[in-house]
Amino acid sequence: MTRIESYLNDTWQSGREPMIALVNPATEETLAETSTQGLDFTAALAFARDVGGPSLRALGFEGRSTLLEEMSRLLYEQRERLIEISIANGGNTRGDAKFDIDGATGALTYYSRLGSQLGTGNALWDGESEQLARSPRFHGRHLMVPLRGAAVHVGAFNFPAWGTFEKAAVALLAGVPVVSKPATSSCLLTWEMTRILVESGVLPAGSFQLVAGSAGDLLAGLGGQDTLAFTGSADTAARLRAGAGPVRESTRINIEADSLNAALLGPSVETGTTVWDAFIRAVVSEMTQKAGQKCTAIRRIIVPTSQIDNVQEALCAELAEVKVGNPALEEVRMGPLATADQLEDYRAGVASLAEQARIVFGDPTRVDTLGVPAGKGYFAAPVLLRAENALAAHEVHRREVFGPVATLLPYDGSVAEAVEIVARGGGSLVSSVFATDRDFLSSVLPELAPYNGRILAIDPKVAEVATPHGTVLPSVVHGGPGRAGGGEELGGRRGLSFYMQRSGLTGNRALIDKIV
Ligand code: NAP
Repeated sequence: MTRIESYLNDTWQSGREPMIALVNPATEETLAETSTQGLDFTAALAFARDVGGPSLRALGFEGRSTLLEEMSRLLYEQRERLIEISIANGGNTRGDAKFDIDGATGALTYYSRLGSQLGTGNALWDGESEQLARSPRFHGRHLMVPLRGAAVHVGAFNFPAWGTFEKAAVALLAGVPVVSKPATSSCLLTWEMTRILVESGVLPAGSFQLVAGSAGDLLAGLGGQDTLAFTGSADTAARLRAGAGPVRESTRINIEADSLNAALLGPSVETGTTVWDAFIRAVVSEMTQKAGQKCTAIRRIIVPTSQIDNVQEALCAELAEVKVGNPALEEVRMGPLATADQLEDYRAGVASLAEQARIVFGDPTRVDTLGVPAGKGYFAAPVLLRAENALAAHEVHRREVFGPVATLLPYDGSVAEAVEIVARGGGSLVSSVFATDRDFLSSVLPELAPYNGRILAIDPKVAEVATPHGTVLPSVVHGGPGRAGGGEELGGRRGLSFYMQRSGLTGNRALIDKIV
């Protein structure tokens, strides 16, 4: 049995019993165990601030860019081994595993390249210098410098690789040491990735620490120079926002929470066109990739009333082809949910959606599986629902069923109704619009923007070349308003500002301009 340890104060540390078991969700076999009971998180935070911060700042942007490049290379070299772990502990197919692991190395590489353009120091200008008084000598300019605290990252179970390293890439480039706490149930992969980095000797002292298990009192000691970046459910986010750090010390907090993302089919998109095909492909892929356990997955499928029967027929035909089972098998397209609790939530969630929408594909109580011991595994069938009155189906706009589940919603083909339905989600990470009518597209995009952190616009020119709806790109902001957490991360250089203090310097222009 593998015993997972936390990496704190640059040493591997094991917590006391009772241990928490990590399982293979396809077979329910126990793979590893971990505990953080009794570990000293106060010392870990102090180590980050006192040792990690200075050692990272000594490198400057240029040195940290090299660090990120090395981290990416080291992890990529072990990609095959990491994919095996992700399949076993995450219930991921090979494709799902690559999505997570390549996302991690891709974000590290992207931020390494960005860092190579930022010079040798630790400070950045934000905007130009402005004259503030009559004299042209007295100017003001905004300086950005790394905060002196620890960047504490709390991640969700569905992305133990990408979720850890997309956050770490940004904080490390900014010059801030990381204390990373992935979700316990899937932390075997994060532990292995951390071991690769630690054993290589690439990590500067105190720059990266891993909490492999429950958070314990980790967040109780956050101060005004620390930051907390959280990804997970809206319920946990609400608890963390009310913590002593954010409330009393003004610890910066960024929340990436759950979201009822939408895919919108524009009016007059004909069946069989490239845009139509891209729409059907996107919905099926978002429902089934990682068994629908993606914060960006499409939950609401908004289509013109005149096309809803055709869309339903096309989606049902595609979903019928999806083979569910042991993700270690090549022919399997969708693996299990991550835990027994997730399966229970899925069943309860589908039941509550089914009070306001009718199930038109799939049975939440049974699923045929390939290559799995009888009665084992946390498998869920893809379920497609349909509501006849989109605005009256309140539960569809409120409840995120974190599994292979989405609901068809009709609209009258107008921009106004489409926007009203999307907005009912209370704020989303991403919505996609698939349309051929340029006027519709150019009117709907700015109207959807207040409710979405990102919008994917598919017209005939980009239908076959665009990145998928669910792919988060390091150069584009990730996060969404309201329900989605109100946070923002990544977005190229924008992401650095969360870990940096912007300070308005006012004084002698000749002196100020020489600082950076
Ligand atoms: P979760 O139950 O909220 O847990 C998220 C993380 O918070 C885990 O690491 C968990 O640790 C930790 N945690 C729970 N209670 C805590 C507390 N009191 N103090 C400190 N840490 C605490 O969410 P999940 O089930 O892992 O993830 C699924 C949810 O995440 C979905 O709703 C999904 O939409 C959302 N998500 C959002 C994004 C995004 O980018 N917006 C990305 C992925 C997922 P333990 O595992 O040790 O309990």
